[in-house]
Amino acid sequence: MHASLVLEQAEIEGFARLIYELAKLDPTSPVAMERLARRLRLSVRRAPPGHPRRGSLTLLRGVPTIFYNPKFGGLTSVGFIIAHEIAEWFFQNRCDEHVETDSNRLAAALLAPYQSVREYARAVGRDAEKFAHAYTITQTCAHLRIAEVTDRPTLLVTPDNLYARGGSDGFSWGPEPRGLAIVKTLPDGLSRMRLTDARNRTALFAA
Ligand SMILES: [Zn+2]
Repeated sequence: MHASLVLEQAEIEGFARLIYELAKLDPTSPVAMERLARRLRLSVRRAPPGHPRRGSLTLLRGVPTIFYNPKFGGLTSVGFIIAHEIAEWFFQNRCDEHVETDSNRLAAALLAPYQSVREYARAVGRDAEKFAHAYTITQTCAHLRIAEVTDRPTLLVTPDNLYARGGSDGFSWGPEPRGLAIVKTLPDGLSRMRLTDARNRTALFAA
């Protein structure tokens, strides 16, 4: 593995499939992350009060143990925290600057497996609220995951970050992508949607 390169999406999908297979689970349908962790012989525990992080992975009497901190959010977040720590366990020999980003991407692929999202997107269309509910993820994660699987160019704008997914054929959002979230009239072929579970976030789509 190239230690310092951000992984290709196809590699992320392959790793997610491999992790399900290591756990002897069907990689085409989603499972609860706590169950996935246990099938991988990882222990999962609620973090003790005062735990400074969302989640962590430590050896506890020789057993790799994931601690999650429910104080950081509801059910959705707990699933994501555990998925992220499973990803870090999988990447355990990596210590480059991209491992956090790649662990978040792999976490999304574990929560919402490729084949399942493909079929769901075909049946339901692009309804982030429904997706988020079906996979117990945030609408942010739903938008990004649908874009990764369908390759439709999608840009998620938050007050601090921009996340671009899809458009692997070289689609470009232009020089001022952040402005597209607030500009009155969008250029032809673009549409946008305000997230209902995070009102300061906007998803933009290309046709
Ligand atoms: Zn991490």
